[in-house]
Amino acid sequence: MRPKRVLVKLSGEALAGQAGYGLDGGTLTALAADISNASREGVEIAIVVGGGNFFRGVQGLTKGLDRTSADSIGMLGTVMNALALEHAIESAGAPARAMSAVPMPSLCESYARKRALDHLTNGKVVVLGGGTGNPYFTTDTGAALRAAELGCSHLLKATQVDGVYSADPKKDPAATRYDTLTHEDAIKRDLKVMDTAAFALARDAGLTIVVFSIAEAGMLAAVLRGEGRATYVTP
Ligand code: UDP
Repeated sequence: MRPKRVLVKLSGEALAGQAGYGLDGGTLTALAADISNASREGVEIAIVVGGGNFFRGVQGLTKGLDRTSADSIGMLGTVMNALALEHAIESAGAPARAMSAVPMPSLCESYARKRALDHLTNGKVVVLGGGTGNPYFTTDTGAALRAAELGCSHLLKATQVDGVYSADPKKDPAATRYDTLTHEDAIKRDLKVMDTAAFALARDAGLTIVVFSIAEAGMLAAVLRGEGRATYVTP
């Protein structure tokens, strides 16, 4: 695979390192080096970043918050991650631009599709915070939405495992890994590739979803060269 333009979904967890919460400097630096290398190899990269390392809306419900307020806090967490990642990618040598789906112009550019496309064609890595900008959604759905509207051929979902398995490999030693699947296979076998709304959107848009592990250094650039281990979920 040598796609022209891709969207990478990074969960907040991917930025948290061993602690499992907040931002870890070493993890950010390693990830940013990988992204910057992939960008220098000529692939246009948009990133949708999650916020689970700070706050997930559902956590707010147990604290007595209403869903909309809780999701607003969650979206703010994703913008914090986008700003951190923008800085880390620029420090690693690739131009980057953070954009937020929730306008906060004194902090970063507001998301607008055409402006994001300009940045991508000019070789900037676009880091998208704020998810879809609406409560009751996840950043997985934001990733599928932005991949579709920005004309990305592939949605790369970075996880802690190296692909899609028949069962959770951490719990079931008999779980088998798939190299390729179709969207229909994933539905028939009830495999959790992304959350349901995100998967439906990706499928409707004809996106190839690539599930790979971000736990190993350099994996993003390797997958984009067609070398890294991953599961390809194709139309
Ligand atoms: N969120 C939201 N709308 C969106 C995307 C995210 O309200 O379009 C909120 C939601 O509360 C979510 C939180 O932001 O729990 C963090 O995003 P997510 O859980 O997707 O992050 P990840 O699990 O990928 O780190």
